[in-house]
Amino acid sequence: MSRKGLLIVISGPSGTGKGTVCKALLKKNDFWISTSATTRSPRKGEVDGVNYYFLTEETFKDKIKNKDFLEYAKVYENYYGTPKSQVLKAIDEGKDVVLEIDIQGALKVKESYPEGVFIFILPPSMKELKNRIIGRGSETPESLNLRFKSAYKEINYVSKYNYAVINDTVDNAVENIESIITAEKCRVDRIKDEILNSKEGILYE
Ligand code: 5GP
Repeated sequence: MSRKGLLIVISGPSGTGKGTVCKALLKKNDFWISTSATTRSPRKGEVDGVNYYFLTEETFKDKIKNKDFLEYAKVYENYYGTPKSQVLKAIDEGKDVVLEIDIQGALKVKESYPEGVFIFILPPSMKELKNRIIGRGSETPESLNLRFKSAYKEINYVSKYNYAVINDTVDNAVENIESIITAEKCRVDRIKDEILNSKEGILYE
């Protein structure tokens, strides 16, 4: 029996550095990252089909109607969504798939795919969170305020996740996530069928 890949969902409040952590994680590991669709405009240097699929609101809404998304959410005035078919195909092929998505989206994925691994990235402190959001420099004062407010509220959602990882340094956060994934791959409920049913399995040698 071929083993399915893991669905690893990484999320957390704005400014926790989850994007940077994910980039570093993918550099070191052979994971499959899902490319999301969004209605927001590309930032400088972002490439369509690489960073996101940049869609019009009309196209995005058609895709919602066609049930093309595993989840979607409106985040800071724009829609974001995870294309369903490519993610499920990659998991079936045994690839470990990473989704870097917001909290609303992660909770929707948890409803439809509870066997996923849900990891919440936390900032080392609220002060540091504020500095990181300001440090991005890509925000207007209004959008900064919106991001602060929702980041404070969003910390409470940590209790819905399987794991919490503090992003004190990117290397530490990546190491912790790698350990979580290693442990998840050894979980009996994930591998017992393979151990007990396989003719070539360890019990028959
Ligand atoms: P940004 O506009 O800075 O690239 O992303 C804004 C937020 O949207 C981030 O919290 C990011 O994790 C989230 N996001 C990116 N892609 C998706 C997605 O496919 N679904 C959901 N729900 N959130 C996403």
